[in-house]
Amino acid sequence: MSELPYSYDAPVSQALFDRASVVTPGGVNSPVRAFRAVGGTPRFMVSGTGPYLTDADGREYVDLVCSWGPMILGHSHPDVIAAVQEAVSKGTSFGTPGEGEVALAEEMVARVEPLEQVRLVSSGTEATMSAIRLARGFTRRTKVIKFAGCYHGHVDSLLAAAGSGVATFALPDTPGVTGAQAGDTIVLPYNDLEAVHEAFHRHPGEIACVITEASPGNMGVVPPLPGFNQGLKDACTQNGALYISDEVMTGFRTSRSGWYGIDGVRPDLLTFGKVMGGGFPAAAFGGRADVMAHLAPAGPVYQAGTLSGNPVATAAGLAQLRLLDDAAYVRIDAVSEQIRSLVSEALGKEGVAHTVQNASNMFSVFFTDRPVRSYEDAKAQESFRFTAFFHSLLENGVYVPPSSFESWFVSTAHDEQAVQRIADALPAAARAAAEATAA
Ligand SMILES: *Cc1c(COP(=O)(O)O)cnc(C)c1O
Repeated sequence: MSELPYSYDAPVSQALFDRASVVTPGGVNSPVRAFRAVGGTPRFMVSGTGPYLTDADGREYVDLVCSWGPMILGHSHPDVIAAVQEAVSKGTSFGTPGEGEVALAEEMVARVEPLEQVRLVSSGTEATMSAIRLARGFTRRTKVIKFAGCYHGHVDSLLAAAGSGVATFALPDTPGVTGAQAGDTIVLPYNDLEAVHEAFHRHPGEIACVITEASPGNMGVVPPLPGFNQGLKDACTQNGALYISDEVMTGFRTSRSGWYGIDGVRPDLLTFGKVMGGGFPAAAFGGRADVMAHLAPAGPVYQAGTLSGNPVATAAGLAQLRLLDDAAYVRIDAVSEQIRSLVSEALGKEGVAHTVQNASNMFSVFFTDRPVRSYEDAKAQESFRFTAFFHSLLENGVYVPPSSFESWFVSTAHDEQAVQRIADALPAAARAAAEATAA
């Protein structure tokens, strides 16, 4: 492999990455894991306990990625592990209905009031893809409105101006998505209701749905301005389109009923993933019963999955959700706030221009002193400072997302000791950010 900076202290990870790069494109199974935005060797993790991860070189990190959100109780939570062990001892997949998927659906429906029915799938991508198909089938319209910087998985039609890995790599577009697939997608600037009204005006009777991240976390954390989600919902209602709230990241993360529990705007359809799977591939879409009735086998819109509602995944998800009571969210929110102020204090001391933004316990740091309200704003930050900040934290045992366009995540397991380790690592990281220069 090429000589990379920062790789000197991770020889076992480097050897694994070299092996991986032979048999897997770029050495990873999801692009952001490759550290391309920040350089260096991705750490191959071997185990996780509570707020900590251990890599293949035996180094321990406080984990502020939490598998990109799902590990909201920390790693290896005993109750989740026990539920998985019990489920797995009975068999791993039956290809028939099972009680676990009913119980998980009931738990979700009980928590999120507009969620009248759900269909379980295996990834967030499948959830948004299926929700869009259902919206088109229900309305018999073709066009979809999405927002620049919002990521809804790697659905062909939604890979226009997407966030997350696409934002990280600044791909203007992705080869393999045809003009026809992208042509029915209208991409608008986030937090711009005027643009939404104008799009409905220009395409009367053509727009099937508006899909938005309930509160975006895939261009960094950029919450909706007050009234934005309600304005989307109203525009949809007035124009006969469906309002799809993508809660794959925020669902059961930002409150016990997700972002709906915070802004109370009633979506027609919602999508879920991450937390609801307890670290396994489980995701879902659902919402209005009259819309869901159009889904096969009840209705004509086809959707299916060999492993949908998998008994091990649903057992993990259900065990995790059952532990997420109001007290758990109070605790996660408090830890998040503590870490946010530590980050801000450290960067402030070094005179580094920054803005820490949060959506309940999700947060991220932008290296700019201006509020970030859109993808354009997010791209205007000094990302080179993030690179230096990231590597200093990593060297000092704090694992944050390897990109400045991602949310940081905490869990109920992030205790005083974990927070202290972060506090100890921050001054050097802030200094590195201050001293960084644009390449
Ligand atoms: C992670 C994410 C997805 C995609 O989910 P996968 O399980 O990675 O396919 C979709 N939407 C949002 C908002 C996400 O954060």
